[in-house]
Amino acid sequence: MNAFALLFLAFLIGGALAGLVLLRRNVRHVQAHRDAVPAAFAASIPLASHQRAADYTVARARLSGVHIVANAAFVLVLTLGGGLQAVHDAWAAVLAPGGLAHGVALLGALGVLGWLFELPFVLVRTFVIEKKFGFNRMTPRLFVTDTAREAALGALIGLPLLAVVLWLTQSMGERWWLWVWAFWLGFNLLVMLVWPTFIAPLFNNFTPLADAALKARVEALLARCGFRAKGLFVMDGSRRSAHGNAYFTGLGAAKRIVFFDTLLDKLDADEVEAVLAHELGHFRHRHLLRRLAFLAPASLGLLALLGELMQQSWFFTALGMQATDVASALALFMLVLPVFAFPLAPALSHWSRKHEYEADHYAAQQADAGKLVSALVKLYRDNAATLTPDPLYSRFHDSHPPAALRIARLQALQR
Ligand SMILES: [Zn+2]
Repeated sequence: MNAFALLFLAFLIGGALAGLVLLRRNVRHVQAHRDAVPAAFAASIPLASHQRAADYTVARARLSGVHIVANAAFVLVLTLGGGLQAVHDAWAAVLAPGGLAHGVALLGALGVLGWLFELPFVLVRTFVIEKKFGFNRMTPRLFVTDTAREAALGALIGLPLLAVVLWLTQSMGERWWLWVWAFWLGFNLLVMLVWPTFIAPLFNNFTPLADAALKARVEALLARCGFRAKGLFVMDGSRRSAHGNAYFTGLGAAKRIVFFDTLLDKLDADEVEAVLAHELGHFRHRHLLRRLAFLAPASLGLLALLGELMQQSWFFTALGMQATDVASALALFMLVLPVFAFPLAPALSHWSRKHEYEADHYAAQQADAGKLVSALVKLYRDNAATLTPDPLYSRFHDSHPPAALRIARLQALQR
């Protein structure tokens, strides 16, 4: 076993153990605080809701624990266990190994295996946990049609995409990674452009916001914030889940603002305005652009790294492959990248929480901070989000600040 294999194992096992320890800390912390609503929420959240949130958090943590262990085993079987090499050999019986068709087949098969691996977890989450806590609205029939549409979309878009990427790696010489990167960026921009009008409607119905009073409020807020959108829509999120949300999608003039029907059911007009002002805060602070400005050079660096790694035979042998073609390198890279990226999670979470605070700050200027607080309290309560996460777990994983800290800051901003 070479040094890289040992390093990979250390990251794989270390990451899984760290993940389990964090989950365990969180479960203990939530259970220890299960019997008392934190003082700041005592007036607004009943004990029964608080306990339901604790039980929901624990139920999901148990499933996550199983997922962490199973995922480590899955990655191990495919790499050191020779699984990917076996898939490679199986396709080699029908397609010339190293060729474009073989490469697409190998990567496509890896995608299908990954999907099959996730399937039981998705089923338990949706039809056991979400159902038990009253969030699931998905029928088995809708689940099947969703899955069929996702598979068709994945095949229709994913397979040609893979073919182009592999073709670029083989045809563009040493600097292929620059071409793949440019193609990948362009593709992502295209998806952002067409998502709201062509892809999202395959899964949900979008109807123009009909409530005239709310519409006038929202339009006044948009004008105040200098935000131009192509429409205000309500999405039938209630078809699948009772969880509520608001977001905007699209680029440039194609931007749309979308409210989940479940959100509009729960919040009054002032609260909806405050939640939207928070979303506009993300836009005003250019959070999406900043994320892209980080991800674009980072992905270029990763592709350049891949270009280097696939010339090294130790990279393949360390990860259980005898084949050394481009598609195999790409497959291995996608499998092991999350393993090595795990320690970056706290930094990315911290960055995301910083953005949430900035968006809250903006919302407090453009709308009523007190209304954002009352909206958040309703959402924490109705979504059974815990108010008492373990601080270390939260610092590592949470994209949003813990409820108590977030609300304390908003209250300080309230005039
Ligand atoms: Zn936000």
